[in-house]
Amino acid sequence: MHIPTLIARKREGEELSASEIGHLVNGYVSGEVADYQMSAFAMAVYFKGMSAVETAALTRAMIASGDVFEHPEGAPVVDKHSTGGIGDKVSLILAPLVACAGCRVPMVSGRGLGITGGTLDKLESIPGFRVGVGMEEAGAILARLGVVMMGQTDRFCPADKKLYALRDVTGTVPSIPLITASIMSKKMAESLDRLVLDVKYGTGAFMKTRVDAQVLADGMVAVGKEMGVEVFAVLNEMSEPTGRTVGNALEVIEALECLDGGGPDDLRDLVLDLSEKIAGIGRAELAKMLDDGTARKKFDELVAAQGGKVEDLGRLAEIHKAPVIREVLSKNAGIVSRVDAGKIGQASLELGAGRAKATDTVDFAVGFDKLVKSGETVGEGGVLARVHARSEESAGAAARAVINAIGVD
Ligand code: URA
Repeated sequence: MHIPTLIARKREGEELSASEIGHLVNGYVSGEVADYQMSAFAMAVYFKGMSAVETAALTRAMIASGDVFEHPEGAPVVDKHSTGGIGDKVSLILAPLVACAGCRVPMVSGRGLGITGGTLDKLESIPGFRVGVGMEEAGAILARLGVVMMGQTDRFCPADKKLYALRDVTGTVPSIPLITASIMSKKMAESLDRLVLDVKYGTGAFMKTRVDAQVLADGMVAVGKEMGVEVFAVLNEMSEPTGRTVGNALEVIEALECLDGGGPDDLRDLVLDLSEKIAGIGRAELAKMLDDGTARKKFDELVAAQGGKVEDLGRLAEIHKAPVIREVLSKNAGIVSRVDAGKIGQASLELGAGRAKATDTVDFAVGFDKLVKSGETVGEGGVLARVHARSEESAGAAARAVINAIGVD
């Protein structure tokens, strides 16, 4: 098959066959299809879309690009995935929590994508934490702890590993078929019994409207159903960051607060809302496991199993102390009317928390904490957020972005 012709046909809005899509995906993984060709194809899909049949074929081809988990008989195998948001550190808390409920959670996550943060980047801010565990090691950790948190590898969903990184830096993320195939290929390759999808919409999400989020949710649920997995989709607004932190290490610190029974209410509520869909036990029992240290103990065990030093968890603020930490103050007194997640996410990306090129490394230290929430009262000169930056110049730009993102009326 002539790849430039396939790209051109998609550019013209033609429907490709399953074998053409399979050929493209296999060629991309083997290196025969170049990054620039796959970028052009992704952009063609972004503009022309894909039919449900094509999306299912893309998902299947991406699953088939690598191995799939095979689980021994036993506890239910469950997971959660978010379509991406700002300050969304839910996975860090939910995975160990649901494992404490007696489930097995083989969580395969992604890196930062567009303006949204990624679970893998956050985990890697824990010194030594290895997200690149192989299938055998992942299976052993899962058998011992009931949870493993890892990324796509050259053997597990290699097509998503490459395409995800490519989409991040080519403006091709917010496409319903590409998001569907990316998420569902990873989750179906985990061989799950139950999956909950946190489908976001709003300024800080790839779907800007609830209607589009519903279309995305319906498509993903249909793929899961066809593959025999019980899938729950929950639509959640992402107009305001989740919790009060945005940025890799800063988000891990807040997730640890939640695992210790504290943290912001919106974060804890979202963790419990999603966990209760898959855990097989009630909200009160889950909440108790956050409050009594059970979930935190599981997270510490996971960190140790994947190469992190548990002693470092209490020192993350020190380990990743940004050179410039600046408070952004409100010019007037009033009630917070908006904290625009899209603008905060963009500012975090520009501080260095995300990537501009596939080869970039992320800056674990930068981002925001002490973010105000809508409905809160601030006085004149009250703190709207704290910026963590690499330089005075980037701190200044981020502070201006915060003033622009937050309304106080
Ligand atoms: N999460 C993913 O894994 N892939 C996407 O495309 C978006 C969110």
